[in-house]
Amino acid sequence: MDNFFSDQAKNKSDNSLNSQYDNLKNNYEEIFIEAAESIRREVNAFKPENPCDKCQVKDCKIEKKDMFAPYPSNCPYRDWQLKILTFLAGDYKQKLKVIYKNMMEKRNAYTCAKCAACCKLAASQYSYEQLKQRAMRGDKFSKDFISVFVPYKTEEDAKAANPEYFELLNKLVEDEKIYYYYCPKLEGNLCSDYENRPSVCKDFPHNPLKLLPSACSYNEWKREIAHEAMLLKAKTDIIEFYRSKLQ
Ligand code: SF4
Ligand code: SF4
Repeated sequence: MDNFFSDQAKNKSDNSLNSQYDNLKNNYEEIFIEAAESIRREVNAFKPENPCDKCQVKDCKIEKKDMFAPYPSNCPYRDWQLKILTFLAGDYKQKLKVIYKNMMEKRNAYTCAKCAACCKLAASQYSYEQLKQRAMRGDKFSKDFISVFVPYKTEEDAKAANPEYFELLNKLVEDEKIYYYYCPKLEGNLCSDYENRPSVCKDFPHNPLKLLPSACSYNEWKREIAHEAMLLKAKTDIIEFYRSKLQ
């Protein structure tokens, strides 16, 4: 497969956050269409062939026999719609899970460059209080997160920690409040409690679409799996859409 980010691949040192962001934004529409076509091919493979020839329903006015038409309950196309739902929630979802697992395993081929950028500035859509409540309700990520990270007192302090990352996050979430955190266990560029660090640190970056600090060595991994990761996200979004339309 061609490298989706071929321009970026020509300049392997271009890890700039704006470049990451622009690539994601510019290519998502194209990837979304690719994902939609791929799902359509899969579900059309078990679409009934010409069932209308033998149909007993007298007043059927459906002309375009597509996936979302309002078929009556005794129509073979309605059975097809139900099969699509079962397929997407079952076999297809399992297939996507395997793709995700393989993609995350590829991360193991890369190692942390110990730049400490991810310890100095972490962002969340949740305030510290909200994270504590989520942790109390059993959310593992929130629990791990607040076991090490504390909020910056001011946005200026957060910006000073990594101006480029701070600016980009602000650009991305124009209408949403974003909260900034740092880890007080960091000494110089080293973790003072490395053996006991939680999985939120061990597994970083835990999301293949996460925008990373430009110094992060996992940008190489992200570049390797960028097309796959975006395709997976598009397919996941499309499945949700189909489920809401077909149920
Ligand atoms: S616990 Fe260690 S690895 Fe985790 S954020 Fe803090 S300094 Fe970084
Ligand atoms: S930003 Fe990336 S390279 Fe830097 S310390 Fe974190 S995981 Fe390692």
